[in-house]
Amino acid sequence: MHLIYKVNNMKLSDRKDIADKLKALNLRAFLFDMDGVLFDSMSHHAKAWVHALTSKGFEFNEYEAYMREGMTGSSTINDVYNRQLGHGATEEECQEIYKIKSDFFETLGEAKPMANIIDVLQFVKSAGIDIHIVTGSGQRSLLNRLNHHFPGFFSPDKMVTAFDVKKGKPDPEPYLMALQKGGLTAEQVIVVENAPLGVLSAKAAGLFTVAVNTGILKDEELLSRGVDLLYGNMREFADDLPNIFRCSNNV
Ligand code: CA
Repeated sequence: MHLIYKVNNMKLSDRKDIADKLKALNLRAFLFDMDGVLFDSMSHHAKAWVHALTSKGFEFNEYEAYMREGMTGSSTINDVYNRQLGHGATEEECQEIYKIKSDFFETLGEAKPMANIIDVLQFVKSAGIDIHIVTGSGQRSLLNRLNHHFPGFFSPDKMVTAFDVKKGKPDPEPYLMALQKGGLTAEQVIVVENAPLGVLSAKAAGLFTVAVNTGILKDEELLSRGVDLLYGNMREFADDLPNIFRCSNNV
């Protein structure tokens, strides 16, 4: 089996640049994004954004919501205001729209863990590699939820959330903070992301970045942000992990 750079179906042996990057790693940790990677939550967020913004007369579709994944709520709303009205939203308008979004999101129920993500986590853990989480989410109950669905994989000292950073993705701060918190260098980690802004953040931090396209975006949206490896789903990624580890001389 070969590593596949999915869009052009190249074998890793044909992608010497990627093979060399993997070889240069001294792998100690995987940094996982959360929404759209650990949890299949993005379709709920996208539906809720479409509901909230169209109810206020804006044009907005799910693809646009996926493109903005990782932005804060007020950034998303201001972005839509600026593009469609030529000015930003007031604090009051932001709060009103964000409340409509949040209320609708609640009605959609709890998002399930991403299919096959457990196989990814188990492989990484059994190889003795640390598992960190780097998310823009600011839910207070995050750790409880993670421990409920993925018992034994996550700990508070290996988490960067909205509470740890001033600037969210696509700024590199969340990933740089993860390195700092974990006492890690850029050569010691692989990032797993699903969204264009998340990939931009990780690449700006100088990290080897895998994207798993778990949503509705075209692969090009991720490739153009500089991902090193791209998979179509977690099964493909889980099945290729032994190859990634072999290339990086870690197994
Ligand atoms: Ca994500």
